[in-house]
Amino acid sequence: MTEEERIELADLLFPGIDKTPDDYEKIYPERDLPKGAVVTRLGPSPTGFIHLGNLYGAFVDERLAHQSGGKFYLRIEDTDDKRFVEGATELIIKSLGFFGIDFDEGANADGESGEYGPYTQSLRGDIYKAYAKKLILDGTAYPCFMTEDEIAAVRAQQDGSKLTPGIYGEYSKCREWTLDQIKEALSEGRPYVVRLRSSGNPPEIYQAKGEDQPKIKVIDGIRGMLEVPENFQDVVILKTTGIPTYHFAHVVDDHLMRTTHVIRGEEWLSSLPIHLELFYKLGLRRPVYCHTAQLMKLDENGNKRKLSKREDPELSLAFYMDQGYHPDAVREYLLTVLNSNYEEWRAKNPDAPATDFPFKTKKMSSSGTLFDLNKLNDISKDVLLKKPASELYDFLRSWSETQAPEYAEVFSDREYLEKILDLGRSGKKPRKDLVYARQIMEFISYFFDDMFKREDEIPEEVSREDAKEILKRYLDTYDHSDDQQVWFEKIRTITGDMGYAVRPKDFKNEPDKYKGHVGHVSTVIRIALMGRTDSPDMWEIQQILGEERVRARIESCMNQ
Ligand code: GLU
Repeated sequence: MTEEERIELADLLFPGIDKTPDDYEKIYPERDLPKGAVVTRLGPSPTGFIHLGNLYGAFVDERLAHQSGGKFYLRIEDTDDKRFVEGATELIIKSLGFFGIDFDEGANADGESGEYGPYTQSLRGDIYKAYAKKLILDGTAYPCFMTEDEIAAVRAQQDGSKLTPGIYGEYSKCREWTLDQIKEALSEGRPYVVRLRSSGNPPEIYQAKGEDQPKIKVIDGIRGMLEVPENFQDVVILKTTGIPTYHFAHVVDDHLMRTTHVIRGEEWLSSLPIHLELFYKLGLRRPVYCHTAQLMKLDENGNKRKLSKREDPELSLAFYMDQGYHPDAVREYLLTVLNSNYEEWRAKNPDAPATDFPFKTKKMSSSGTLFDLNKLNDISKDVLLKKPASELYDFLRSWSETQAPEYAEVFSDREYLEKILDLGRSGKKPRKDLVYARQIMEFISYFFDDMFKREDEIPEEVSREDAKEILKRYLDTYDHSDDQQVWFEKIRTITGDMGYAVRPKDFKNEPDKYKGHVGHVSTVIRIALMGRTDSPDMWEIQQILGEERVRARIESCMNQ
C-alpha cells in the first residue's frame, strides 16, 4: 500500500480519532521524579477473585516504588469483558487496603486520582485507537477479516503439516490485502480485528536455511539476562469490538503512565517477545520487566506443586481476611518469601519497621516460590506477640465487624478481653498462643460463658466419684485471694488426701501405690474451669475469670 492509501485506510478504520501519539506524549509527560525513582503499577483484572499473587506482586511494586522515591499506582485491566464481575474493583481496593497496600494514584474507592489517567482500561478506548491508527499509518498493523472457521482451517492445516500454529506470514489471509479489498469487506460490514504485522519469521524458515532462530537479549529485573526468540505472530491488538488485547493495552498504558518497572507473573514470560516487538514498532522505550516466580506449595507427599484456585483456599486473599490474619504478619511473611536475605536482616533488626529493609528484585526467586501456611502461622505468632493488647483488641474487633459478627459480644468489655489477650505473654518465655483472629476466638472461647464448652474428658486415672470429690474439696477450700503458691498448696493437699501422688515422679516409680498424680487432679479442675486439658496458667486464668465464674463452673461440673 502507498502512503496515501495507508492514510485513507487509517481514517476509514478510525474516523473519529484525531489525537496522535504525539499529542498523548504531551498530555502525559515524563514524570518529574528524582533520578532512579521507580514507577510501578498493579494491573489486576476485575474477575472477582483477588489472589495471593496479586498481593505478592503488589508488595514488590510498593517496595520498589517507595524505597526509591517513585510512584505506585493501580490500574484496572478490564479489557476482558467475559471475566468482568460487578463490584470486583471495590473488592480489589478493599482487599489490598486491608493488607496495608496504599497506592499513590490510580483507581480508588471514589473513582480515581492522578495525572496519568484514566486508570481503567475500558475508559481508554480512544488512546489505544490512536496508537493502533499510528501502526496502520506505518503499515505495521492491518485489519484482518478472517472468520473463526478460516482460522480453525489454518490451524488444522498447520497441525497436519507439523508447522508452528498461528496467524503469521502466508497463513494470514488478509496480510497483503489491497485497500480495495479492505474497503469492500468494510462495506459489507464484515467484522475484523486489527493485527500487528510482525517482522519476525517462524522457526521453520530458519530451519530450512540451517540457521538458528534469532534471539533477543533482554534483562529481566529478577531473572537477569534472558534470551527470548523473536516474535513472528501477527497477534491481535484490537479485537472485533475495538477493545485492545492485554498485549497492546499494557504496552500503551505502561508507556503513557510512565511505568519504569513491570512486575508480573511468570505466565507472561512466553508473550514477552510480542511485547518487545510492540514497543519496538511503536518506537517506545520499554520498561524493565520483572517476572515473578509461580507460587507453589508442598503437597501431602512433599511434592512441589502450583497453588490452585480450586484446591487451595489459601490462594485467595479472602481466606486471610476471613481467618483474620494480621496484615503485618502477612506482610512480614511475604517479605521472607520475597527476598532470600530478609530473615537474616530481621534477626539482626528485630524491631525495625519492615520498610527499612532494602528490597532487591535480584534477591527474588525465579523458580517457584514456596508458600507455606505453617511458616506464616509461626511468623504471625511472633508478630502478634509484639502487639500490645489494646492494639490486638482493635484489630480483632474490626475483623469481627466485617468478617465474624457472631463474636460481637466478646468485645463488650475491653478491659476483660485485653487481660485475656495478655495472658502469659510477659516474662522470659512468653507464650505464643495467638495466631489469627478465628484461631484466637476459639482459643479464648472458654472465657465467655456463651462459648464455653467442655471439650476434653477427665483423665482415665480419675474415677467419676473422685472427680466430683476433687471438685467439691477444691470449691470448699477455694479462696480467690490466695496467691499462686497457697493456691497450689491446696491442690497438693487434696491430691495427697485422696490417694494421689503429690509428685508425678512417685506415681511413675510406684504406680500401684497411687491412683494417679497431682497432674491428673489439676486436670480435673482445669476441665471444670476451661473445658480443656491444655491452657495457659490456671491460677492466672482464674484471676481473669473472677471468683463468681470460677465457683459457678466448678459447681456446674460437679453436678453433671
Ligand atoms: N491484568 C493482568 C493480570 O491480571 C496483569 C498482568 C500485568 O501485571 O501486566 O494478570
